[in-house]
Formats: sequence, structure tokens, C-alpha cells
Amino acid sequence: MSRFDAPPEHLPRSSWLKDCTACGACCAAPDISTLQKPLGVRCGNLQDNCLCAIYQDRPAVCRNYQPDWVCGEVAPLLTLDERVKRFLQIYGLSP
Ligand code: SF4
Ligand code: SF4
Repeated sequence: MSRFDAPPEHLPRSSWLKDCTACGACCAAPDISTLQKPLGVRCGNLQDNCLCAIYQDRPAVCRNYQPDWVCGEVAPLLTLDERVKRFLQIYGLSP
């Protein structure tokens, strides 16, 4: 199973999405200890356009993050708040 295949309990509603679209969800939803970023709080380096202000110098944890099926679930949603909410919901997390 590729990382773009959703688990059976999730319908692959957006299986067409196979790359990062810079939706910002993974920079806001998960906790990132390297950046001392709590769960559900947007990273201080995430700009209003959902691009990283330190992209060339971002830490390894960000460099190593790879888009997967979750991107297909969250990226099409219209606002960052909606994307974060869905991201956390998928992982069963609450801020
Ligand atoms: S959640 Fe996926 S599509 Fe959105 S910024 Fe992160 S890697 Fe890219
Ligand atoms: S440093 Fe940049 S890539 Fe890493 S979480 Fe923050 S905004 Fe995202």
C-alpha cells in the first residue's frame, strides 16, 4: 500500500492529490517538539499565505515530512482552520 492510499476506514475522496499543495495543515496541526510548537497551534514561521518563512533553513523534521493520503483529505478544505481541524480529527487528536 502506498502512502497515498487511505486506510480502509477512510474513503479516498481525494486520491488525485499526490503532492504537497502547501495547504499549511502539517505546519499547524501536529505538535513539533523541535520547534516547541504545541498541537493545533500554527508554527510561528508559517506565513499568512501558508508558506514557510524559513523554507531554505527549515529543520530536518520539516524537510523529512512527506505528503501522504492525509493531504488529500485536508488540502482541499477552504480554510487553514478547517484543514487543521480535519487533520487532528483523522489522527484522533484534540488541542
Ligand atoms: S498537509 Fe500535506 S499538502 Fe498540506 S502542507 Fe502538509 S504536506 Fe503539504
Ligand atoms: S518551520 Fe516552516 S516547514 Fe516547519 S512547521 Fe514551521 S512553517 Fe512549517
